[in-house]
Amino acid sequence: MQQPTDSSVMRNSLGRDMHGLVSALYPICRSITGDGLRQTLDVLGQHLPLQRFDVPTGTQVFDWTVPREWNIRDAYIKDRNGRRIIDFRTCNLHVVNYSTPIHRTMTLAELQPHLFTLPTHPTWIPYRTSYYKDSWGFCLSEMQRAAMTDDDYEVCIDSTLSDGSLSYGECVLPGDGGNTDEVLISCHVCHPSLANDNLSGLSVATFLAKRLLARTHRYTYRFLFIPATIGAISWLAQNQAQTTRIKHGLVLTCLGDAGAFHYKNSRRGGEVDRVAAHVLRASGAAHELRDFMPYGYDERQYCSPGFDLAVGCLSRSVWGEFPEYHTSADNLEFVTAAALEESLAIVSSMVDVLEGNRSYVNTSPFGEPALGRRGLYRSVGGSAMGDENLARLWVLNQSDGQHSLLDIAERAGMPFALIEQSARELVGVGLLRDAGNGASA
Ligand code: ZN
Repeated sequence: MQQPTDSSVMRNSLGRDMHGLVSALYPICRSITGDGLRQTLDVLGQHLPLQRFDVPTGTQVFDWTVPREWNIRDAYIKDRNGRRIIDFRTCNLHVVNYSTPIHRTMTLAELQPHLFTLPTHPTWIPYRTSYYKDSWGFCLSEMQRAAMTDDDYEVCIDSTLSDGSLSYGECVLPGDGGNTDEVLISCHVCHPSLANDNLSGLSVATFLAKRLLARTHRYTYRFLFIPATIGAISWLAQNQAQTTRIKHGLVLTCLGDAGAFHYKNSRRGGEVDRVAAHVLRASGAAHELRDFMPYGYDERQYCSPGFDLAVGCLSRSVWGEFPEYHTSADNLEFVTAAALEESLAIVSSMVDVLEGNRSYVNTSPFGEPALGRRGLYRSVGGSAMGDENLARLWVLNQSDGQHSLLDIAERAGMPFALIEQSARELVGVGLLRDAGNGASA
């Protein structure tokens, strides 16, 4: 058997840590408000400098109102022998999220309208919510429902809906030299035991933040761990004046399954969209680029016309397009260490490009400068032009202050990292200077 290389061991161990975080968060019963959400933020706070914000019930946030807080302790359906045939304690998906409390005995006929199954996958439990309508229900497998034959069942949902708050977590990593231009990284934290749809995004975002904590970066990075829709809207309402600082943004979700990558463009189009396309193409990974549409995850809040931020959405499989979506089959086996780690690598590369993308001016633009004299033209022993040499010529030729390094990488059909390395060398010998106008969009 071949011995693993050091780097493959490291890769596996990083992926294992990422999957470990998903596993630690998986059992918690999260919702858009409540203790499970705060418990999740507490776990993330062990990895990151996370600040928690609590928006009180009843707060008006644009066209929405922060709802009452939902908490649940227990829930079950008992048969006539007192046996729990449906037990919240074995799977928190069994209760329709945000169910109002109930405790009474009822006939199966009365109970049926409150039971939700997935006949196409008879062993899976669906995930349902009832955030903005007072109702209650149980989700169970079709097989469990088919086995229910008693006349009467004891039904209990020990939940509360009361004034409290909507909590979210924020981790801000300031840019070098007080640069307040921001990159927003946002993921939703409101789904209970669903691994790909919410926990994979949390894990990738958390490990990306850990990486950024260990290096310098020119942008300020703002990580949001928020309940979907109402959380993003609450954050936007409370930070409206600051949103102009956000130059680029990414919503991260569904990043732990084995599917191809999908990147959804921002509404306005922007550098982040071009960066995603470039990185995915250069990675060689299977991927698809999609146009913006006003549905999906919280990019639709950030891209609402009043804000129109350049925020795209990166996922592997797309919500609603994989059978496990919003079911008990979106579990710890459905997401893998390898997929999480590959997703982190893609997002890290995107950050590298955003960080490195800027425009330069060629200080010797009249004819080609003599690179050999400066040790920057390496003979490659034949007629073929080496990639390093060609990359330097592309950078020199295109650096008129109008073209960013990403523009050059795309026009040259070369990896951004090679173009950036060439620019660094050319700056080192004085043949390039920073155009001082940031990157072109
Ligand atoms: Zn979802």
